[in-house]
Amino acid sequence: MKNVVFKFGGAALQSAESIKNVEQIIDKFKPRLVVVSATAKTTNAFENLVDAQLNDQNIENHLDKIRKFHQEIISGLFEKEKNEVLENLNKVLAYCKAYLEYSKDTPFDEVYDQIVPSGELLSSKILGAYLQKKGHNLNWMDARKVLKTDNRFRKATPYLKHSKDELVSQIKASSTNLIQGFIGGTENNLMTTIGREGSDYSAALFANFIEAEELVVWKDVDGVLNADPRYFNTPELIPNLSYKEAIELSYYGATIIHPKTIQPLAEKNIPLRVRSFQNTQNEGTTINSTAEFDGGKSIYIYKPNQLLITLESEDLSFFGESKMSEIYHSLFEHKLEVNLIQNSAVNCSICVDNDPHKTSTLIEEFAKKFKVKYNENLELLTIRHYQTKLLEELLLNKDLIIEQKTRSTLKLLFK
Ligand code: ASP
Repeated sequence: MKNVVFKFGGAALQSAESIKNVEQIIDKFKPRLVVVSATAKTTNAFENLVDAQLNDQNIENHLDKIRKFHQEIISGLFEKEKNEVLENLNKVLAYCKAYLEYSKDTPFDEVYDQIVPSGELLSSKILGAYLQKKGHNLNWMDARKVLKTDNRFRKATPYLKHSKDELVSQIKASSTNLIQGFIGGTENNLMTTIGREGSDYSAALFANFIEAEELVVWKDVDGVLNADPRYFNTPELIPNLSYKEAIELSYYGATIIHPKTIQPLAEKNIPLRVRSFQNTQNEGTTINSTAEFDGGKSIYIYKPNQLLITLESEDLSFFGESKMSEIYHSLFEHKLEVNLIQNSAVNCSICVDNDPHKTSTLIEEFAKKFKVKYNENLELLTIRHYQTKLLEELLLNKDLIIEQKTRSTLKLLFK
């Protein structure tokens, strides 16, 4: 067994076949700890379930959709019609239904955190049962009892010392240790989540706690690419990246790594490898303290669904430090991160991801103090190490709203 941590995301767990592939990878490389997220699209499906309840819509079809998707995976992995994984699926969904019915007065973020992490609980049970079937000596750990957090629902902060002690005491030397990413638990045993796509961050914390030799994040791409293949035609692999460049990329929205992943790894000098679960012979991308990125290649980071909120002072007073600190305070309270900000003497434009649960109340709050305008459905393209000659082509037929440049980074907000 090697002291490495493996993390598998939704794409690696999307079908019975892909779970069989994950078992083979685990069997071949024998990592000390495996961290999983929910099966593909399940987190979104649970989010839709919570939204349906909030909007007084019928939730049965949402529950059915989640049930059917998981049932199909289960029936592709286990022969018996009725097995304990299936029972667990029904139990989790029955709990969600009952909880949603009785939590009408509970704040949205708290309800969200009691329901949405069910995706990770299901995927880890399914993978765990399959590992056992294949003869692994399984140690299934419950992240609610390992990653202890505060109760800032949907963006909880882990208590590091306590969580480390829990993990170290629960992990077993000669077992296949399996745990969920994304989930934590409060002192009062409520579930929490650490932010969407957060299981990379969980995995990095766990790697830090056990002083792993490496964290490997298994993906459906060959490694870190210089552009997101969903939006760009010919992305190229970047074989090596420094922690610093990787932090910059994830901060600007590169979805390949969660922005908080690097810090716990850098603290203990643990390399992060991004590899393909489809092409396991490929080396992927290594991110560490020594790697050099020559900057010869531009890196494109694309974020759709952006909201630009423009604030203007009612009395033409300046947007000075005190107003800006109020604005940042409101953004923090609404758990929103600024993707781009630009201000002049009497107005300030802020671009954030458009999550209506957060942005609608933020706009209401701003409207009490400022004149507010907003613009939805914008796209933000950040280019690291940009080459000016390619820009004209990129912006063809686009309505450019804001352009911001430093020597290494260009941000373009357009419609
Ligand atoms: N399942 C969660 C999400 O989709 C966490 C993760 O995948 O990292 O956001």
